[in-house]
Amino acid sequence: MVVRTRLAPSPTGAPHLGSAYAALFNRAFAHQHGGQFILRIEDTDKARSSDASESAILEALRWLGLDWDEGPIVGGPKGPYRQSERISTYEQHIQKLCKLEGAFHCFCTKERLDQIRRQQMLEGKVPKYDGLCLSLSESEVEARLEQGVPHVIRLRVPDEGTCQFTDGVRGEIEIPWSQVDMQVLIKSDGFPTYHFASTVDDHLMEISHVFRGEEWISSYPKHQLVYKYFDWKMPQHYHLPLLRNVDQSKMSKRRNATSINYYRRCGYLPEALLNYLATMGWSMPEEREKFSLEEFYAKFDPNRLSSRGPVFDTEKLSWLNGLYIRELSHDELKRRIYDWAFGENRLDALLTLVQERSERFDDLFRQADYILGDRSALDSQQFDHKSVSQQDCLRILDFADRRFESIEEWDREILYSALKTLSEAMSLKFRDFLFPLFVAIAGRSVALPLFDSLVLLGSDVTRVRLRSAIQTLGGISKKQRKILDREWQGLSRE
Ligand code: GLU
Repeated sequence: MVVRTRLAPSPTGAPHLGSAYAALFNRAFAHQHGGQFILRIEDTDKARSSDASESAILEALRWLGLDWDEGPIVGGPKGPYRQSERISTYEQHIQKLCKLEGAFHCFCTKERLDQIRRQQMLEGKVPKYDGLCLSLSESEVEARLEQGVPHVIRLRVPDEGTCQFTDGVRGEIEIPWSQVDMQVLIKSDGFPTYHFASTVDDHLMEISHVFRGEEWISSYPKHQLVYKYFDWKMPQHYHLPLLRNVDQSKMSKRRNATSINYYRRCGYLPEALLNYLATMGWSMPEEREKFSLEEFYAKFDPNRLSSRGPVFDTEKLSWLNGLYIRELSHDELKRRIYDWAFGENRLDALLTLVQERSERFDDLFRQADYILGDRSALDSQQFDHKSVSQQDCLRILDFADRRFESIEEWDREILYSALKTLSEAMSLKFRDFLFPLFVAIAGRSVALPLFDSLVLLGSDVTRVRLRSAIQTLGGISKKQRKILDREWQGLSRE
């Protein structure tokens, strides 16, 4: 059998550590068996997908050395590898699936769906579609389609019985069909949902094995049904355990740095990051912690995958990274540090900023300390200001963080106008509004121009600094978060 694996990221937001983690195992397994590792971009959610995010994912995978045998840019025999370019394929397949009675048209309105949902919740049931449109006759469906009544296409799910499957990591799993919703496969805009597009593509791209996060286990029954209705052979799935924080909580964007770019900007080496990720949920036979990618490819055995949530500990990662740094030859170290600190025009940008503010060459390092390295630790008194209270500082930092989340193009003018608009919406003088941001980013209220600094630091480091400053100010309680959520909704509406 030819082994073909894939990574299928959705291009929404920053390149996620979880994508690197899944890519590593998929690529290792394919290459170990002389097969191919495919990259497929799952961009059928038009509102959330962006080109900027796709480029950032490709760039991050390249930086890690996780290049793909087939996919965007490199092409391949099963393309296109971007789902938005495969819409006609899904159209053909959904028609077939309807004929096979594996899917049906649903004309229920949002109001009706909301109402049954509310009712089911009141009755303590798991909310799901009640199957009303299953009873429509063929001619009724035809008539409504001709009238152009808005509709979706849903998956037909058995009423009784259990979905059974063998997960490569967890073994036998059973999920009763009564817990599985009649999933929307085609949305009212004619675009497929992830569940349909991904299943059809895994089949057409001849994927034989899938390593993906455990959050997809509950989707497995839906995917299995699509395979069954079409009478296709399903790939073997391995659901990798979710990465956890040191306190065992789930690693989430809100609390931690989950972007690959963050680790890159902090000065981790790609080989150290990959080595560390390879120890998450997997271990070398002799439990050795430091090993190269080649050794991993030689030794990787999916039978040694564990379902226990692995802890992603940045201190441990730093220790490992240190081992790699010490092994670099002098010339290699020189090259890598130069690229990291000054590559991609960073030196030009920094010199332009510093030159007009310098009297001596050593001013470069004094002024750019927080850009070249981490900023100093903060204490809450640094947020004392004559006209901005600490509460306001907290609101400003939290709202700026929320605003930054939706900015895909990290560009000086875009950042400037986003923050200017936000300060106006909050009825704050721009100068006052910028004060806590300077402290959070630079560790002091007077520093190099803020927007240039943000561009040089990048979105991920910027946001981590904002969140750490929020912690310095005492953090945000659940109650406070609710108040801020409400205020944010009000501001965003204006
Ligand atoms: N597009 C899904 C994601 O963003 C892929 C999940 C899968 O691997 O099946 O993670």
